Amino acid sequence: MDHHKQRLDRVRLALKKAEVDALLVTDFTNVTYLTGFTGDDSYLLVRRQGEVLLSDPRYTTQLEEECPGLELHIRRPGVPMWQAVVKVLRQSKVVRLGVESDSMTVGLQEKILQRVKNLQIALLNGTVEELRQIKDKHEIAAIRRAAWEAEKAFAAIRATLRPDKTEKQIADELEYQMRVFGARRAAFPSIVGVGPRAALPHATPGQNRIAESDFVLIDWGAYSGLYNSDLTRVLVTGRITPKFERVYRVVLRAQTSAIAAIRPGVTCHDVDAVARKIIADAGYNKYFGHGLGHGLGMAVHESPRLAVKSTAVLRPGMVVTVEPGIYLPGWGGVRLEDDVLVTRNGHEVLTSVPKQLEDVVVQ
Ligand code: ZN
Ligand code: ZN
Repeated sequence: MDHHKQRLDRVRLALKKAEVDALLVTDFTNVTYLTGFTGDDSYLLVRRQGEVLLSDPRYTTQLEEECPGLELHIRRPGVPMWQAVVKVLRQSKVVRLGVESDSMTVGLQEKILQRVKNLQIALLNGTVEELRQIKDKHEIAAIRRAAWEAEKAFAAIRATLRPDKTEKQIADELEYQMRVFGARRAAFPSIVGVGPRAALPHATPGQNRIAESDFVLIDWGAYSGLYNSDLTRVLVTGRITPKFERVYRVVLRAQTSAIAAIRPGVTCHDVDAVARKIIADAGYNKYFGHGLGHGLGMAVHESPRLAVKSTAVLRPGMVVTVEPGIYLPGWGGVRLEDDVLVTRNGHEVLTSVPKQLEDVVVQ
């Protein structure tokens, strides 16, 4: 409960700075982050003093368990959410209201502006997301847990990989194994791409059998209940071809060099540039068409981004993925992805699936 109070106090500081009376938190993940409540369909109004959670009767028991002591406004069955919001805004005498523009709907905004007299709306996007970038030790432990679940599942499917398995079978088995090891579910639909399909950064697993090509790309992660992990590995099911070896070594060097550059005070685009330069120098600059990585936490993709134009500066407690790739149309793609914590003195890689060239061959 204590860390929720701290987080709420930080939001209140932001309210003061933005000169608003309250922030209406409409992003459910942000509501969870600030209160510990894990249900959906609930908003949180953070006022200069105190906060109130707007929810419905389905959640009353869960609310008592997950956030005892939190002030609640439980709307009656049939009362739409916007009416509850209007009522709480009036009761709280809010004049200047901050909203999260990425999740606030135009419909809700229109209704409350029509019904709450003199209400002014200020767009305060990213206030909670900014706080979420820096993970405390409980959050880091939860990400480690999600990484462990994903890695155990990967080891299990790798041990039973047969050439006649399809992409979809591997994806389904991965998800099942992650759940066996404690995950609530997969963090996102796993990507399993054989050969040329691996050149599509977001291939949907289909009926291709892994023996149809020399290698298969697997991008997967576990959702432990509140936090996520996100990894990518390539497995070779035939023999390592000279072309595969060349591409793989470049991606591996780009990834390990970029990870080595991670420490507090470094700008995200500089980390991206380390990997991008190695890939460009090897002649593949046209074939690395996405950012180097992204923040990872309660959401699979969050701030900060490791990308060409990202001016964010790394700080201790941030967790980012590092995932360079080279995608050659018609041949396939090679990407390696690990999850990296920015520490006070440098970094710590939270994921540990072996990735040297000799590790990728499945016998
Ligand atoms: Zn991934
Ligand atoms: Zn990722």
